[in-house]
Amino acid sequence: MTDFTDKQIERYSRHILLQDIGAEGQEKICNGKVLVVGAGGLGSPVLLYLAAAGVGTLGVIDGDTVDLSNLQRQVIHFTPDTGKPKVISAKEKINRLNPDVNVIACHERLTAGNALDIIKDYDFIVDGTDNFPVKFLINDACVLAGKPFSHGGILRFEGQTLTHLPGTACYRCLFHSPPPPDAAPSCSQSGVLGAVAGMLGTIQAAEVLKFLTGTGELLTNRLLTFNAKTMHFQTITLKKNPNCPVCGAHPTITELTATDGRTACTVGLKSCIPSECA
Ligand SMILES: [Zn+2]
Repeated sequence: MTDFTDKQIERYSRHILLQDIGAEGQEKICNGKVLVVGAGGLGSPVLLYLAAAGVGTLGVIDGDTVDLSNLQRQVIHFTPDTGKPKVISAKEKINRLNPDVNVIACHERLTAGNALDIIKDYDFIVDGTDNFPVKFLINDACVLAGKPFSHGGILRFEGQTLTHLPGTACYRCLFHSPPPPDAAPSCSQSGVLGAVAGMLGTIQAAEVLKFLTGTGELLTNRLLTFNAKTMHFQTITLKKNPNCPVCGAHPTITELTATDGRTACTVGLKSCIPSECA
């Protein structure tokens, strides 16, 4: 067993008290490596709860800077952070919350060119993005690399999430390909209730902690949806689709291709914040 310090035993005591987690589970959390893609509405609660829980290595990748319009839901960023790279703002809060956590901050976008190289170092990936091409990119990269991940999406008053482990239904089993750009509403066009981001992000954080500790039943082969207006939660059973273009019997997607019309970025980690990308 890890030799927890007295302070760590105190910090993590409410986990250690849980029969299903205990000191052994807390040790697994402290040894966990989790990548959160997007330090926005979903990434904020995911990062805060995983940092509080003591996840050993937290990677965060996001190419944006903090904007005043983000603060209504992206609770890891504060008013004085406006204009700062989101990954730096997030890293500062995580370090203040829990100095045990090693934060790897990448101020760049996840692309077809860098995705496999970035995710390879992590045990679990969290999709906290707000656009369809990157959601499909995360799915394809994780399926190809055999990495577990949590998909999350929010819009207006609604949220949806599923967890993928190798061999279970993936996001493309459900949604074959991204909708045309003009057909898919985004939060910036349609709005989102701030607290909905917190509701979905904390579900994703709970899935990560369950995965790391081997506790309970993950949202695999299930899609959880909710509507905060009615507080109606629903779980839809999913099946792995034999015709899925990435995880099916005869996949047509066998490598990542640029998803945004630009040439795939091949600079790897070069544009990360110096010394912060391992
Ligand atoms: Zn699939």
